[in-house]
Amino acid sequence: MDAHPDTLTQLARPHRKAVLVALLWITIVAGILFGILNAMKGAWVITWVEWGMSLYSAFLLYSVRKPRQLERWILAYIFPFFIAMMVALATPKASVTVFGWVLLIPLVGHLLLGRRLGLGVSLFFIGLALVIFLNRFHADTVVMDPRSVANMVVLTACITVFSHVYEVSRERSEIQLLKMAQTDFLTGLPNRSRIKVFFERERSRAGREQQPLSLLIVDLDHFKEVNDRFGHEAGDRALVFFADLLKHRLRATDLAGRLGGEEFGIILVNTATSTAIQVAEDLRRALSEADLQSDGQPISLTMSIGVAELGVDGNSLQDLLAAADQRLYQAKDQGRNQVVPAPVTHGPAGAPSPLV
Ligand code: GH3
Ligand code: MG
Ligand code: MG
Repeated sequence: MDAHPDTLTQLARPHRKAVLVALLWITIVAGILFGILNAMKGAWVITWVEWGMSLYSAFLLYSVRKPRQLERWILAYIFPFFIAMMVALATPKASVTVFGWVLLIPLVGHLLLGRRLGLGVSLFFIGLALVIFLNRFHADTVVMDPRSVANMVVLTACITVFSHVYEVSRERSEIQLLKMAQTDFLTGLPNRSRIKVFFERERSRAGREQQPLSLLIVDLDHFKEVNDRFGHEAGDRALVFFADLLKHRLRATDLAGRLGGEEFGIILVNTATSTAIQVAEDLRRALSEADLQSDGQPISLTMSIGVAELGVDGNSLQDLLAAADQRLYQAKDQGRNQVVPAPVTHGPAGAPSPLV
């Protein structure tokens, strides 16, 4: 399962918002303080830049309460903040110690923008700071002492590398946790939570592209007997076997997940009921013909399937699950090992025709 970029951004939001709020408070307080110090020295350009940043940060602090626009507020903070820093560095009256602020660039960049954009923006502004530094101090023998320069370069490189490595590893752990939270432990199939996320995304796509979408609910027949006859562990192995069969038989664009117990949900994208019935029939036949054994004894597995289609049976996952579930129980009532689709509307009224 790939973690969708939107999902990653979503996951990173609480961290990013906390970091942004902290930075905004720091910028407000530091801007006022340094503005006063610079005003006392008569450095008015930098004073107004700092007070301007304080005021702007206060506005952002007020605006950032709406988390839906967080990404926009982050960009609205980070670019003026870094540009103001560059202006401060380039001001002839600013002391060389102002360059210490450059160390914040990779930290803030990665924490707020993530590993890719964070690295790109960090390298750009660090490079710019270097150009400004060389421009201002290339003739200053004290500042250009090789040991001082080496200290600054190595320190900046270390903080850039650490920030990047930390962000890469944080993102990886988050993807891992997300996968675990959305995967069924026994079969490795997506669980209900992942099915829901996938359905929402595919429903939007189906709507945009005017494509059909179908849902199958599969329930293994008499599975309790498998456990009773062969033991719970053999039952587990049968579930894993069935999950593998689903993984191999479906298209990569479809999604099969475990709804719970011996019940599975399958979302077939770009598929109307007529094709969904064929897919369901193919799966049904494949399982009934599968060679599954426990200690040399054949385990015979069959399944019943209910079919529902987006639009025809409703527009929410709940609607489709309810319709497919009802048909699944019809399949059970009618003798199991069969597929039950929606009743044919143009045919004679009556019960849906099972395809055995
Ligand atoms: P039906 O054809 O009506 O669906 O009969 P059934 O026996 O499959 O249905 P029932 O709901 O009575 O039993 C489901 C069984 O599935 C009971 C339960 O022990 C078994 N089961 C559910 N989850 C697991 C699991 O993770 N591992 C194993 N081994 N068995 C499970
Ligand atoms: Mg069952
Ligand atoms: Mg069941």
